[in-house]
Amino acid sequence: IVSIMTTTYYRKGVVHEQVLPPEDLAFASELEAAIAHQEFYLVYQPQIDFNSGKLVGVEALIRWQHPQHGVVPPNRFIGVAELTGLIVPMGAWVLKAACQQVTAWQDGELAAAKVSVNVSPLQLQAEGFTDYVRQVLRETGLAAERLVIELTESAFVHSDCKSMQNLQALKRIGVKLAIDDFGTGYSCLAYLRDIPGDYLKVDRSFVNDVPGKERSEAVTSAIVVLGKNLHYQIVAEGVETEAQANYLRGLGCDFVQGFLYARPMPEHELQQWVQARAEVTPAGHQA
Ligand code: C2E
Ligand code: MG
Ligand code: MG
Ligand code: MG
Repeated sequence: IVSIMTTTYYRKGVVHEQVLPPEDLAFASELEAAIAHQEFYLVYQPQIDFNSGKLVGVEALIRWQHPQHGVVPPNRFIGVAELTGLIVPMGAWVLKAACQQVTAWQDGELAAAKVSVNVSPLQLQAEGFTDYVRQVLRETGLAAERLVIELTESAFVHSDCKSMQNLQALKRIGVKLAIDDFGTGYSCLAYLRDIPGDYLKVDRSFVNDVPGKERSEAVTSAIVVLGKNLHYQIVAEGVETEAQANYLRGLGCDFVQGFLYARPMPEHELQQWVQARAEVTPAGHQA
């Protein structure tokens, strides 16, 4: 617990020493124990090609199986994990577990699926991050092109040297990069221009309001056009209705992820979901 009492964190490019308030501290030590006790697991949400209807990838999302409180969603603990630095070992576990899982899938649509892993700015800033990714790819045998690293805009806010070097190095290995939740954080068009990204994920807050809300439509269509002109492939996230899907397909989004298609699922459920799809539509196509 001593290791997490005082924590170093980054804000506006300045390193702060911070003492956590007692409730965060208690929570942080619980999190630390949960890592040791391996109480985390991954769920996978399908990502679908808008045109072919095929499964192209899955996003790995962390869950905490808490001994008393049941399943705890990431929004409840990622923040404290970032403040304390625990996100670094946690994120290392996520990356390895996700890559291991994906290489274990040998059949059907899953055999070629990409895996998207969320990476925190703190991980990206770390000196050894690229080496760790390389090591995981080597150990699991996953092709670099099948790994997509998802970064939120806050990862680029400081555009510190190490993060940028890591991004460039990851690109050289062949790993794909996605800009997550685009349009919400400290949106800056220079990031879009300068980051060597492959995918742009339009945030759910925009997707929620289309079609119908004129101002959200204007922002959403502008993001899609801009992203496409910069040669990003566009992922619509959080799609819940047919109307949203039709609208976003019409704008030219390439991929889609959302409850309309599938919720994030533990791996055995994902297998069943893929199997059921194959039985309905043998070629993996959807209407
Ligand atoms: P994200 O990376 O933007 O992930 C998408 C989130 O949207 C997931 O929430 C997913 O369950 C949810 N979602 C997907 N489709 C729909 C939909 O149609 N409707 C609604 N209402 N929600 C949808 P989840 O799993 O709770 O994760 C929340 C956030 O926590 C993630 O947002 C990501 O920022 C973070 N996170 C999750 N796993 C990890 C991880 O392993 N490492 C890090 N650093 N962050 C993670
Ligand atoms: Mg994500
Ligand atoms: Mg997102
Ligand atoms: Mg999000």
